[in-house]
Amino acid sequence: MENWPGIASITGPDLMSNMRSQAEQWGAQLITDDCVRLDLSSAPYRVYSANSGTLLAHSLIIATGASAKRLGIPGEHDLWSRGISACAICDGTAPVFQGVDLAVVGGGDSACEEAVYLTKYAKKVHLLVRGDTLRASKTLIDRVNNNPKVQIHMETAVIEALGGAGAGDDGMGGSPLRGVRIRQSNEKGERTESELKCRGLFYAIGHTPNTKFLQGCGVRLDKDKGGQVATKSKGSPETHIDGVFVAGDVADSEFRQAVTAAGSGCQAAISVERWLAEKGLGEQLPTTTEGNESWKSQGVQKSPSSSSSTISSASSSSSGSVTLEVDTEETFDEDKTYHAGQYALRKLYHGSNRALVVKYVSPGCGPCRQLKPILDAVIEEYMNSGMVHYVEIDISKDQEVAEAAGVTGSPTVQVFFEKGLVETLRGVKMKSEYRRVIESVAAGAVRN
Ligand code: NDP
Repeated sequence: MENWPGIASITGPDLMSNMRSQAEQWGAQLITDDCVRLDLSSAPYRVYSANSGTLLAHSLIIATGASAKRLGIPGEHDLWSRGISACAICDGTAPVFQGVDLAVVGGGDSACEEAVYLTKYAKKVHLLVRGDTLRASKTLIDRVNNNPKVQIHMETAVIEALGGAGAGDDGMGGSPLRGVRIRQSNEKGERTESELKCRGLFYAIGHTPNTKFLQGCGVRLDKDKGGQVATKSKGSPETHIDGVFVAGDVADSEFRQAVTAAGSGCQAAISVERWLAEKGLGEQLPTTTEGNESWKSQGVQKSPSSSSSTISSASSSSSGSVTLEVDTEETFDEDKTYHAGQYALRKLYHGSNRALVVKYVSPGCGPCRQLKPILDAVIEEYMNSGMVHYVEIDISKDQEVAEAAGVTGSPTVQVFFEKGLVETLRGVKMKSEYRRVIESVAAGAVRN
């Protein structure tokens, strides 16, 4: 990030990590969990989490951001996370994208930034822009224009992602994607279709606000044209529901910058404080465990090890993130649960009689940081039972390991048992997903 005031340059994940520590230092209690449902039909409002109980709140700030959009083209579903990605920083370091031709779709700041970033690894990057102009800032357009490895294709729509025959076995990097079908307009305005060879396709076509969890919240929260939560007036954090406020990209269709999101978070916090004072609602509400029955009907599992499902118990385990040193012949100890690096992986792959959970990450990958406390908490639950070995692999350092494992992006989690792959989980999942796979090994349900 180059536009955070007062800091010449910082990575997004580092900024997030600093914010987290600062908030904790001032007494904020952070819970790493999914909010599966809200009940805003009556006050106090109820926030149902997947694993940490139900939180009662007089007031709420919704700051759930936005997720990368997809094109919805044929081939996308099959090749998602296997050649197609929405995060160049997370997946660009994967071995399958090294030294090959890649494509980026989009014409905004993200597309330009990602195209330039991917030139670190790719032989060539095609920037596919549907319109006749780039809407990115001049600085980023200049960076793209001045990079000899980027080729810009204007008025070019991607209409199909091509995998299948020939992909992955031609010695060009092993990606299951072999190219894209594109539609272009020629000088006479005629449309032509052709195939463009590329082994990775990176989406940078904007974002959709994360509001799905608001469905069934018991009241109607208005949305604007882009799907952002509507507020009482432009720029205000106040929604039409008393005591419910919004901050950041979930409500902003215009600026969508980290600094504007932080500013709107501050506005929302001040608004909550004023609102609570006005209503005389300063006291802290107790957490409850009610609502667990409704989670079961949604297929959400409760933690197998925790008898209490209060917010505070989840918080203490989630904040206990584990920092790992890479194992060497001298330091490796099979009795330990947590490991890092290829030496440990090789030893445990051949010798472990536990479920072997391998997490593949890359430096600067935001979702990898998001996954860390989630997976750490799950591994911690099984630590005393001796059921699990855990290894973390940095795919930018251990490329051949990632290649052999068929890892096409990060974070990826693979669970092995007795040298057999039980399951691969790509991206960030709920704790219950990781538990399900570990439990299936324990139950002897999956043996290869
Ligand atoms: P934007 O919404 O700004 O741009 C999306 C791009 O994708 C546009 O060029 C759009 O085309 C194109 N697009 C949308 N849908 C499709 C589709 N179906 N097929 C093909 N192309 C499509 O999103 P960004 O993620 O780039 O940026 C979001 C915000 O984050 C912006 O405010 C940006 O300034 C900010 N940002 C800032 C950065 C920085 O300062 N360093 C870095 C990255 C982002 P069209 O133009 O034709 O609509």
